[in-house]
Order: sequence, then structure tokens, then C-alpha cells
Amino acid sequence: MANAYQALLNHLKVIRNLESSAGLLVWDQQTNMPSAAAEERGEQLATLSHLSHEMFTSSKTLELLDAAQPEIDALPSDSMEARILQVLRYDYQEATKIPSEFVAEMARVTTLAHEVWAKAREANDFGRFAPILQQIVDLTRRQAELLGYKDHPYDALVNMYERGMTTKMLREIFDAHRQPLITLIESIQASQKEVDDSCIHQYFDPAKQKQFAQEMVSAIGFDFNRGRQDIAVHPFQISITRNDIRLTTRFEDHFLNPALFGLMHEAGHGMYEQGVATELMYTGLDSGTSLGVHESQSRMWENIVGRSKEFWQWAYPKLQATFPEQLGKTALDEFYAAINKVEPSFIRVEADEATYNLHILLRFELEVALIEGSLKVEDLPQAWNERFEASFGLLPPTDREGVLQDVHWSGGSIGYFPTYALGNLLSAQYFKRALEEHPQIKQEMTQGNFETLLGWLRHNIHQHGRQYTSEELTQRVTGESIQSRDYLEYLHQKFAGLYNLET
Ligand code: ZN
Repeated sequence: MANAYQALLNHLKVIRNLESSAGLLVWDQQTNMPSAAAEERGEQLATLSHLSHEMFTSSKTLELLDAAQPEIDALPSDSMEARILQVLRYDYQEATKIPSEFVAEMARVTTLAHEVWAKAREANDFGRFAPILQQIVDLTRRQAELLGYKDHPYDALVNMYERGMTTKMLREIFDAHRQPLITLIESIQASQKEVDDSCIHQYFDPAKQKQFAQEMVSAIGFDFNRGRQDIAVHPFQISITRNDIRLTTRFEDHFLNPALFGLMHEAGHGMYEQGVATELMYTGLDSGTSLGVHESQSRMWENIVGRSKEFWQWAYPKLQATFPEQLGKTALDEFYAAINKVEPSFIRVEADEATYNLHILLRFELEVALIEGSLKVEDLPQAWNERFEASFGLLPPTDREGVLQDVHWSGGSIGYFPTYALGNLLSAQYFKRALEEHPQIKQEMTQGNFETLLGWLRHNIHQHGRQYTSEELTQRVTGESIQSRDYLEYLHQKFAGLYNLET
């Protein structure tokens, strides 16, 4: 490779090494670190992120980009190098829009806000959280101004997580599936079918849960030679490099789902990162392209595969053999109905596939209203409850089960929630395309063979890393933009069977 481009890559490699070292410290913080080390760890992370940010936003980066440009212009415009340079220029522009004083101020307020939020949630006292949430909303508005936008300040925020996505596009996508979801849930409730899910709420030895869950994620294709799994209170996946992917899970004595579906979810994220092309290592493009596409991978393995009848035709006898006392007498159909039970509830993270996106739509509307100033922070609990009742027919008994439940706003992550819903939609959209190309995928699942599906995902999605935006990628893979049609069709098909609905 030519000289100037190589010099750019060398510069990026140092930055990536600082970032991945910070990632390892974050992983350690959440899994192994003694609690007394929290303050120093905060200092260590601040030091590393300051160094990598300084280095990336320095004029040297721009000089190296400019110097490499003529070499890259001599290559075909659709070459990987051309795309790398294009994405790096975009990253550089975005990173240099935010002054470091602002980054420091945001970090200071959100660190404080996390404490305040945790206490307010525990005490069920929104009033305690409101003043600092107001500060975060004000800071976030300033952030939107710094980043810039065309139509709506919220565009700048969502763009940080889902490049190119706008408030208007989100409204269209979300409006198209709000009512169909409500109608589906109503018809499920009207079916009067009572699902007994007591079989998944028995005592399950955590050590055996761990062993079984690891066996499942190995089978679907997570490579434990390039990754590992540990315990964390709030499970997550973190990619140190494509050869070092850390998954975390939590285990509940009397509930199978967190370990089982939680680990398949995180493994879905992890397999995406493991599948990024080797050539992208150290470039800064060596990760998933957006949070929505990332979530499409975790949701596909957790739900579309992990909660399918085909998967359990293969896996259920193994689960029964692991827990003969608990499940030996429970039929596959009963277990399958239990893991797919639909029940409107207050807490997003416990929501089933049919109700999940409604939780997100509610948060999206409130965030947009807060950012444009049409909703005051002090009126948030009431607005939450009104909208919740309109969507779910239920009124949260307390703010703890309502507006105070999520950590995101205290962390300044306004604009993040929509990506969860986009992930669900994309999971169905991509899976449908994979099935069209390889109709045998479902049959293979009944034999514990996931190679065709994973191979398809690797080829069409994983290897590209951040070379394409989610919109570009979705167009390439499915020939259209993100839409809710395929997700609704998937839900209808699945729940029509489970709840004897008319189609
Ligand atoms: Zn996820």
C-alpha cells in the first residue's frame, strides 16, 4: 500500500489501541473490579479517552487524510480504501464539532445524574431527578446545535447512533406500525388463551444454566476462541478487537430467560463484531455500522431464531436432559408457548416481542417533545402515564414502573431508544431476505445447523463493518429502506399460531 495511506493507518492504529485498552478497562469495571477502585478507574478511563480524542481530532489526522486522498483517488471509487477514507473524514468532522469543554461538562453532569437517578428510582421520587434531567436536556439541546441539523434538533441526536436517520423518517416508520401492533395485542388478549409459563419459573441450577447457554451460543456460531463470557449485573457485549469479544450475562435461580435469551442476544452482537473483515482492523471501521443494525443481529438470534419452534425442536431435548426434574414432563409446545407469552407490562426490558416496540414509540415521542420544548421536564410523568395508558390500556402504579425505569436519560443518551425498535424491524427484514435466498434455513435450524444463516449474515452484513450506513446496507441487502411490514408479518404469523388468531 502506498505511503501516505499507510502513514494514516499507522496513526489510526495508535488511536484504536488506546480505545481498545479503554474498552478492556470498562469490561473489567463491570465484571471483576473491586468496588474500592471505582475512582481510579474513572481517572484511568478519562485519561485514555482524552488521549485518543485529542489524537483523533488533532490537525495531524486531517493532514494525513489530505495526504492520502490522491493515492486513494487513483483507486476505483467503490474500493474499500475509498470507503474507509470517506467514513474517516465524516468521523473527523463530527468529532471536531464538539469542543472538549463540552465533553467534560456532559461527563460531569451525567456521572452525577446517574447517582441521582438511581436514588430517585429507589425512592420512587421523580421530583428528585427532575432538576438534573433538566440540565441534561439543556446540554443535549446545545449538543444538537453544535452537531448541526436541517429540520429538527432531534435529527442531530439520533444521527449519533444511526447515521442518516431523521425525526421525520422515524415518525413515518413508527406511525406505520403503532396501530397494527395495538390491534395485534388486542386480538391476542381477545383470544382469551391463557398461557401457563410456570415451567420457566422453577429452580434452575445457575451452573447448569451457564453450561447450557454457552453450548447454545457455541452452536449458533459464537467463537469462544475469540471471545469469552462472564457475569455482570447489567449484561452487555463489548468488542475489544474482532478477536476479543466479551459477552456478559446474569443468572436468575428461578427464571431461565435472562441467561438463555440474554446470552443469545449478546452473542448476536458478538458474532457481528467477530465477522468484521480483518482488513478493517485498526481503521476505526472495525465494528457494527449503527446501533439499529447491531440490535438487528442480537434480536435475530435471540428472538427470530432463539424463540422459534424450529430451534427448540433441536434444542429442547437437550434442555430437558439438562433439567430432567424441571422439564422432563413438560411438552415442547407448552415450553414454546411459555417462552413466547404475550403480556402487556410496564417494564421495557421485560417486554415480549409483540409489545416491545410500543415501549420505544412512547419514549421517542417524549424525547422529541422534550428536545423541541413542547414538553416540560416537570410534566414528564403525567405525559408518560397518559401515553402508556393509550398504548397498553394500563396505568403504571408508580414512576419506578414508569418514567424512572430506564438508565438512558441520566446518561445523556437522548436519541438512543429508537435504535432498539429499528433493530427489531431490521431483524425481520434481513431474516426474510436470507430465507428468500436460502429457504432451507428453517429446516437446518431443526438440526442445530446455523451455518447457512450465519454465513449469509457474515457475507451481507458483518464483514462490511462501518463501510456502509444502515440505510446503504439495508438497500444493498434487501433492495429497500427500513420498513415495518416484514416485522408485522413475522409477528402475525408467529402469534396467529400461538394464540389461534384469525389471519
Ligand atoms: Zn442489544
